[in-house]
Amino acid sequence: MNDMELVMTTRTRFAPSPTGFLHIGGARTALFCYLFARHTGGTYILRVEDTDRERSTHEAVAVILQGLEWLGLKPDEGPFFQSDATDLHRQTALQLVAAGKAYRCSCTREELDAMREEQRLRQEKPRYDGRCRERTDPPSDDRPYVIRLKTPRDGEVVWDDMIQGRIRVSNGELDDLILLRSDGSPTYNLAVVVDDHHMGITHVIRGEDHVSNTPRQIHIFEALGWTPPAYAHMPLLHGTDGAKLSKRHGAVSVLQYRDNGYLPEAVNNYLVRLGWSHGDQEIFTMVEMVALFDVHHVGRSAAIFNVSKLDWINGQHIRSAAPEVLLPELIAHLERQGIAHPDPALVRALLPTVRERAKTMVEMADKSRFYFQAPQTYDDKAVRKHLRPEILDPFAALVAALTALSAWDATALEAAFKSVIADHDLKMGQLAQPVRVAITGSDVSPSIFDVLAILGRDAALARLNACLDFFRGRCVSEGQG
Ligand code: GLU
Repeated sequence: MNDMELVMTTRTRFAPSPTGFLHIGGARTALFCYLFARHTGGTYILRVEDTDRERSTHEAVAVILQGLEWLGLKPDEGPFFQSDATDLHRQTALQLVAAGKAYRCSCTREELDAMREEQRLRQEKPRYDGRCRERTDPPSDDRPYVIRLKTPRDGEVVWDDMIQGRIRVSNGELDDLILLRSDGSPTYNLAVVVDDHHMGITHVIRGEDHVSNTPRQIHIFEALGWTPPAYAHMPLLHGTDGAKLSKRHGAVSVLQYRDNGYLPEAVNNYLVRLGWSHGDQEIFTMVEMVALFDVHHVGRSAAIFNVSKLDWINGQHIRSAAPEVLLPELIAHLERQGIAHPDPALVRALLPTVRERAKTMVEMADKSRFYFQAPQTYDDKAVRKHLRPEILDPFAALVAALTALSAWDATALEAAFKSVIADHDLKMGQLAQPVRVAITGSDVSPSIFDVLAILGRDAALARLNACLDFFRGRCVSEGQG
C-alpha cells in the first residue's frame, strides 16, 4: 500500500457498551458505520466498551454479536474489548501528567460539594474550578487523587461535524475533566480517545448524545499531540410521540425484531431511511445501500420510529426476496411455532402461496402451518356455514373424483372440481369452502387447487376423508335432532 492509499483508507468503529441487549438505535449506528466503511472501501471495527465492570455482562456481549450477525453487520476487525487496554489508558494519563498537561487532584467529596454549593449560590454553572491545577506543594501519596486534564481556559473547540455541520464550544464552558478515577480506572472519555487513536480510527459515527463529549475528547487528542478523527453525530431515534425511543414504544431489542418476523435486510432498509434518503426511493437492497449511502446526507432532525412503516418495508422485502433468503427464515419461524424439522422441499413449494400478503415471517409461518399439521378440530363457524347437509353428496362425489385422479396437479384438480359443481349445479365457493375446512380447519387458505397440489395426494385425501366422516356424522346427528 502506498502512502496515498494509507491516507485514503477509512476506519470506523461501532463501540457499544454491553449492558443490555442490542438496541435498535445502536443497530442503526452499527449500520451507518458499516455502510460508511463499505461505501468508502474502508474498515469497520467492533469495540466492546466493557469498562463498566458492574454493568457489563458476557451475555450482553453475546447478544450484541448475535444481533450484528443476524443483521449481516459483522465487523471486519474485532470484537476488541476496551477493558483489555486499561493499562494503556492508565499509562497515557500518567504520560500527560509527566508532560504537565494533566494533574493530580486530591479534592475530597466534601470540598467538591462545598465548591458546587458556592457556585450555585452565585448562580454559576456547577463545575470543577481547577483549584488543584496550580498547586505547587508536592501531592501526598496517602491522599486519594484523581487525574484531571488541564483544559485550555481560553479559545474554543471547533469541528466540522459530518452531520451536524460546524460546532463550536467555548473552552470556558468546559472544566478540567477527570481522566483517571481515584481507583486508577480510566474514564470513558480517556479510554475512547486512547482506543480511537491506537485503532487508527479516522471517522467516528455515533449518536448525538455524545456531542457534549466530543470537545473534551478533542482536547485529550490535542494534549497527546494526536490528530482527532472526523466526527458524525447521528440524530437520535424518537417514538411517534416525540419522546426518546424506549421500551414503552414497543420492541427495542434487535433480536426481538428477528423473533417478531422481520427480515434483516428490511430492518436495515428501515433503519437507513431513519435520517437518510436518496430521492424518494423507499426500498433498498444492501447492495444499493452500500452504493448510495453518504454520511454527509444524513439529516439533522430526530428520526421517528414508526412500526407500521417497518411492516410495509418488511412486506416489500418479503415479496422481492430470493427463495434462498426466505427459506431459512420461514423454517426457523415454523420451528418456533412448534413444527419440528419442516421438510425443506415442502417449505419451498408452499412459499409462493403464502408470501404475497404476509407482512412478517411470523404471519407467513402462521399461514403455512396447516401444510404440516392436519386440523385437530374444525372452526365452528366455518362448519356451520359450509358443511351444510345439501353439500354432503357433492362433497362425497368430489372426494371420489379426486381419489380417482391419475394426475395430481392444480390443473387436474381444478377440472375435477368443475365437473362436480357442474353435475350438482353449484358455485365453486360452495365446494371450495368445505374443502378448505377439511384441509385447514378454517375457511381461509391460498388457492385451494395449489394447496391440494402442494400437500400431495396422500395427505390431501386423508384430510378430505377424515372431514367426510365428520360431515356424515354431523348430518346424521342433525337429521336425528
Ligand atoms: N460506548 C458508547 C455508547 O455505547 C459509545 C461511545 C462512542 O461511540 O464513542 O454509548
